[in-house]
Amino acid sequence: MTQDAIERAWDSVVGTARRTVTDGLVVGTSGNVSARVGELVLVTPSGVPYDRLTPGDVVAVDLDGTQVRGRLAPTSELPMHLEIYRRTTARAVVHTHAVHATAVSTLVTELPLIHYMAAALGGPVRVAPYALYGTGELAAHMLGALDGRTGCLLRNHGTVTYGDSLDQAYDRTSQLEWMCRVWLTASSVPGLTPSLLSAAELDEAAEKLRGYGRPR
Ligand code: 13P
Ligand code: ZN
Repeated sequence: MTQDAIERAWDSVVGTARRTVTDGLVVGTSGNVSARVGELVLVTPSGVPYDRLTPGDVVAVDLDGTQVRGRLAPTSELPMHLEIYRRTTARAVVHTHAVHATAVSTLVTELPLIHYMAAALGGPVRVAPYALYGTGELAAHMLGALDGRTGCLLRNHGTVTYGDSLDQAYDRTSQLEWMCRVWLTASSVPGLTPSLLSAAELDEAAEKLRGYGRPR
């Protein structure tokens, strides 16, 4: 992997991490972002404000988690990021503590099918059972909740999404947070219960989304 490719990927990792703060998906140093470059995984460091990160702060690990670049400690959620890269074709992973998503994670075991954009994450979004942050146990719970999906909620904690690029992983987090917000908003009207989509309606939307944004 060329130095140039690593520098460009690091720039995108830091840019995406900063965006999670400016878009209000996390507060302070919460959350973390990673991208896969060949056999390396670039990850945000643990507990360092994203606006302080410079091009010289590259943190890279291999798929076993051995640090191969940088002096700052990798994110405490390294087990979650690495499990995704080991088990899927992901090129990027985004973890946040987005407000509405975190609130929903305390109420249900699966986000009710409030909107067809669930299809963009592979289907109804599950909530992984709670485990202490940064543990292999949390990573294992997350992996179970991700089966057939590109995103899940972590109970009393936040969101995890992955994608083919940082932009795609980030967009999935934004869509997930937005759906959680819609469900919470609709569910909080006294005396009324939101209508939900059927599995067949979601399948139909999933099929149509495959052609979405593509030229005819
Ligand atoms: P890090 O600062 O170690 O990435 O931890 C933030 C976090 O969200 C832990 O779940
Ligand atoms: Zn977290």
